[in-house]
Amino acid sequence: MTRLSLVADRHPLASTDEQKRRLRTLPLVKSFDDAIGGTAFGPRLRATGVEVFQINVGRKCNQACHHCHVDAGPDRTEMMPDDVVDATLRVLEGSSIPTFDITGGAPELHERFEEMVERGARAGKQVMDRCNLTILRTQRYAHLPAFFAKHRVEVVSSLPYYDESGTDAQRGDGVFEKSIEAMRALNAVGYGVEGSGLVFTLVANPVGAFLPAPQKSMEADFKRQLKRKHGVEFTRLITITNMPISRYLEWLDRSGNTEPYMNRLVSAFNPATVAAVMCRNTISVGMDGRLFDCDFNQMLDLGVHAAAPQTIFDWDQRLLDQREIVVENHCYGCTAGQGSSCGGATA
Ligand code: SF4
Ligand code: SF4
Repeated sequence: MTRLSLVADRHPLASTDEQKRRLRTLPLVKSFDDAIGGTAFGPRLRATGVEVFQINVGRKCNQACHHCHVDAGPDRTEMMPDDVVDATLRVLEGSSIPTFDITGGAPELHERFEEMVERGARAGKQVMDRCNLTILRTQRYAHLPAFFAKHRVEVVSSLPYYDESGTDAQRGDGVFEKSIEAMRALNAVGYGVEGSGLVFTLVANPVGAFLPAPQKSMEADFKRQLKRKHGVEFTRLITITNMPISRYLEWLDRSGNTEPYMNRLVSAFNPATVAAVMCRNTISVGMDGRLFDCDFNQMLDLGVHAAAPQTIFDWDQRLLDQREIVVENHCYGCTAGQGSSCGGATA
């Protein structure tokens, strides 16, 4: 089943202002601002530097997952234009930031994707591709596993569950089967195979309005089941809490789960997660070159603090390294339970 994006559907939650209004007006016991204020990091959360340079190259995707926080899909066409790609790569190449994280949409659909990978790798960066797996089963992109291996790209891929029903319910009919085929193609070039040094990370997020199970036990379950039933391997599994924004927020609303889910996150707030929230060592570059604290803030159109440079065209790492982070109530998604980030659990 092909779904439409919120934008194509002309849904009110396609508007970031409407999403922010919804989250700001929920009757929560405590706002996230107040929760941070009660920790050792309060009253204001600050960055510790920039170690991860993440770029979101566009909204186009061959999938249209129910929970997508980007509202990506086949009907979206917006992609990062050349002048922003050029400026972004120039900044990356001139910096000592060790990690270059490419996301989307399906980032591989950007016509300069391979150039981005090549230039990142040539500059000595650890390149990460947030790959939805199914794109690797299309004829045009079937060469990518070998390309990734050549540049020692870390492949990071969502797989909400190790069976067909759990995965297809969230990501679309037939996605599980194609994902397994793509995993085989990655394994065939060494990804996930012990001793190869090629890192293949799976990302699991709950199919429902609850927090992820403990990351270690999920990793063990996934490894056992995927190997036994499908003969495929991966390096590690990380869990991510579903962020109450965009299409997941729309689903929460539609299923009457918004308040219960938010209250679940609020009551699971874990101060021990705050030190390692990803915004503290990440910068996120938008399609139009604007700078954000993370991909979630980017999707809510919450730019970096006014005292920091606002776009890639006026990059100043010294100011970005020590910027104040812009937080709102969705940030409970990163700090509930075992914590959640692009690198998985944080506590
Ligand atoms: S979650 Fe990922 S694969 Fe699914 S629609 Fe969004 S960008 Fe595409
Ligand atoms: S949503 Fe972004 S800004 Fe908020 S805590 Fe998470 S990483 Fe930081």
